[in-house]
Amino acid sequence: MARIRILPEILSNKIAAGEVVARPASVVKELVENSIDAGSTRILVDVEQGGRKLIRVSDNGQGMGRDDALLCLERYATSKIATAPDLFAICTLGFRGEALPSIASVSRFTLVTREANADVGTQIEVAGGRINNVSDVGAPPGTLISVAGLFYNTPARRKFLKSIDTEMGHIADTIASMALCRPSVQFRLSHNDRIVKSWAPAAEPMDRVADVLGAAIKKELYTVDQTTGDIEIGGWIASPRMNRSTARGIYLFVNGRWVKDRVIQHALFAGYTGRLMKGQYPVAVLFLKVPFDQVDVNVHPTKHEIRFVRQKMVHDTVRDAVADALRQSDPTRWKASEPRPAELAQQPARVSEPHAAYHLPPTVSRTGSSAGDTVARQAASTAHAAMAENRQESPPPADSVNPPVPPVDPTARNTKPARQALLWKQRFFADLTVIGQYKGTYIICESEDGLMLIDQHAAHERIVFEQLRRQSNAHRPAAQRLLLPETIDLGFRETQILEKLAPELDRFGLEIEPFGGNTFVVKAVPTLLDSSGIAGMVTQLVEKAAEIGVGADMETIVDECLMVMACHNAIRAHQQLTGTQIKAMLEQLDACDNPSHCPHGRPIWIQWRLKELEKHFQRIV
Ligand code: ADP
Ligand code: MG
Repeated sequence: MARIRILPEILSNKIAAGEVVARPASVVKELVENSIDAGSTRILVDVEQGGRKLIRVSDNGQGMGRDDALLCLERYATSKIATAPDLFAICTLGFRGEALPSIASVSRFTLVTREANADVGTQIEVAGGRINNVSDVGAPPGTLISVAGLFYNTPARRKFLKSIDTEMGHIADTIASMALCRPSVQFRLSHNDRIVKSWAPAAEPMDRVADVLGAAIKKELYTVDQTTGDIEIGGWIASPRMNRSTARGIYLFVNGRWVKDRVIQHALFAGYTGRLMKGQYPVAVLFLKVPFDQVDVNVHPTKHEIRFVRQKMVHDTVRDAVADALRQSDPTRWKASEPRPAELAQQPARVSEPHAAYHLPPTVSRTGSSAGDTVARQAASTAHAAMAENRQESPPPADSVNPPVPPVDPTARNTKPARQALLWKQRFFADLTVIGQYKGTYIICESEDGLMLIDQHAAHERIVFEQLRRQSNAHRPAAQRLLLPETIDLGFRETQILEKLAPELDRFGLEIEPFGGNTFVVKAVPTLLDSSGIAGMVTQLVEKAAEIGVGADMETIVDECLMVMACHNAIRAHQQLTGTQIKAMLEQLDACDNPSHCPHGRPIWIQWRLKELEKHFQRIV
């Protein structure tokens, strides 16, 4: 006897609803997506009791005629795709034709819709998937859908609804994410007849971002703008200082669709590498444009998940775009944005006077040739000229600058301003006026903009970390043979790890050889490192590698090892420094790629701008 049967449509819609309609926010998402697809410029969302009692979405979009209005409640009925190839060129938010019948099967559903050129609108009432009434109504052009008593006929689902506040939070997040991506559309959300959020159409996308994320963040946002091949990345990322403890400040969009994509999120974090600590999340709004046939949006009924054909390329483009944007935030780049060459060529060189308490050796800047000379001498090379122009701000000519100017990146001229800024990265910290040291831990400086505190340990950790890494990339750094090789005894797991790690460490001049069993000897140490306590450092380093796990890639493990070495060697807090030591450290900080964060992602400096201070003292309002 046949036991298999095709399920009635109402039941299959209910099953689909299980996936598409997880909670009130999913209803809001589907309805607002439809309003956007219908070309609406105003979308109003009214909610009662966190969406349990009522969700109503009205729009001024293209509306539907009576036939379409009836059809849209059928499963797999859509106006957005028609043929199989369309599935690989999806440019609308919807395409599955599932949302409306699913929602209507688990609620008391009313649809009112009118096309602009129709005399009259259509109203359809549905309960639990059954159409109860169809009638003509007077209605403005557009569509209004109300969903009452969500899950009234699926008590198990209803039981899983969270508190009103939680559900409202999800709804507000959903609308915020859609609003970010459609700045020209007006959105309004009300709860129990009170307006919760209202976003007027924004002329500039940035204004909508500030509206959604809060005005305070506006000053801390950096523009992301990069095109690699046919992948475009735009948007804004916030300074690492504005970090959050959850991923809720991360909004990712692909071809206008809000997605939760691990590849992009991973790339975003990779771009922030070294600027965030464990457990910190960045704030970012990123828009990717990828050719429609390069991305599969048909992965899950909620359409939140996507797959890229060229995943690695997307990943690396996002990572680089983010890293480039963040480089702009480092203080050494602040100067790059100042228009100056012509005007400065006429100005006398400005020299920052060190604090009287420190007798720093006179720098060449006081005796150096004029900026004009510098430019003239180096005009032969455009790249060098660019450096020289910038150097007018801090006058020592190239040949007498101390420390030596880092080599010019030959690719720099061909790329974007972010890269060009690298050429100009030379003196920011070295030009600060050192006021003193606080608690033997923080260096107090006066900058052009205000008052700065620099964490000496974090700064030095960053310096040693980058020096080690740079040296090992170029060639095996100078190593110092130990007169008395130090032995280390390790546990079983650590022994295995060190066996694998030793050849990598050798690249840094840290020479470790097996000595039988679980014993190793350290034979040479990079000259950059202090050889005292080296056995302890190596043990710590192996423990760190064990903690990360062998699954991680070698680069990550080696970076962690470099962090341990840098930490081991960096000057500590509560250590008095001489003026010369401070000055040398600031100069070395200028040579760092990331002078803003220690290798663990902690900030190296904080600054109060003069204006902020004056506000605190109520000198200005
Ligand atoms: P999909 O969006 O995947 O096509 P839906 O079930 O969400 O499926 O909607 C079915 C169809 O109903 C849509 O393709 C569209 O033609 C129509 N529709 C839904 N909502 C609206 C709306 N707000 N304005 C105009 N048409 C709508
Ligand atoms: Mg839809």
